[in-house]
Amino acid sequence: MNEFIAKRNALLAEKLIRGLQSRNMSGYYAPDSAEALRIALSLIPEGGSVTMGGATSAHELGLVEAVKAGNFRFIDRDAMEDKRAAMLAAYDADVFLTSANAITEDGIMVNIDGNANRVSAIAQGPKKVLFIAGMNKVCPDLDTAMKRARNVAAPINALRVGVNTPCTKTGACMDCKSPDTICCQFLITRFSRHPGRIHVILVNGDLGF
Ligand code: SF4
Repeated sequence: MNEFIAKRNALLAEKLIRGLQSRNMSGYYAPDSAEALRIALSLIPEGGSVTMGGATSAHELGLVEAVKAGNFRFIDRDAMEDKRAAMLAAYDADVFLTSANAITEDGIMVNIDGNANRVSAIAQGPKKVLFIAGMNKVCPDLDTAMKRARNVAAPINALRVGVNTPCTKTGACMDCKSPDTICCQFLITRFSRHPGRIHVILVNGDLGF
């Protein structure tokens, strides 16, 4: 990576971490994936139960594989036949791994969901929520963060899951009401009532979409 891009990311992360702290959330900056992985694993209690939702960034980081290989109890919801039991187990997890569709420079996170499993677990349930976010997710303000979530993250996610929506044909959000829409709930996380619950690891470079 260009050294000036890296420098800018580090400086921007300082501002963002102050914003998160002002919102009762914790922020960390990792200059590379190895450091991001180290920070993430240090935040998961030994033997704790871990689950995830919409965490492409955690996969790209190798965090999911590291959790499976470590001294943790990974709740693999995809492997569970009883989806309701899987969902309820996720709400009771010690740690929920996720990412944001967009983050503002002052620490507000935006997430869009189709089934609400991710946004509901971010809002309530798991004891700790661990966001992994590349600096590509950072936006100047809430308006641009919403636009990013709707016009960049959601169409790419729709293509990833292979739904029949207008954005999978055009690449742009058409504000659809398709039965397949993945944009049913929008969550704006602007403050945490619970100290120590929400942690955001900002990673130098691009992760996820
Ligand atoms: S077209 Fe529909 S599914 Fe696609 S991003 Fe827009 S609202 Fe979401």
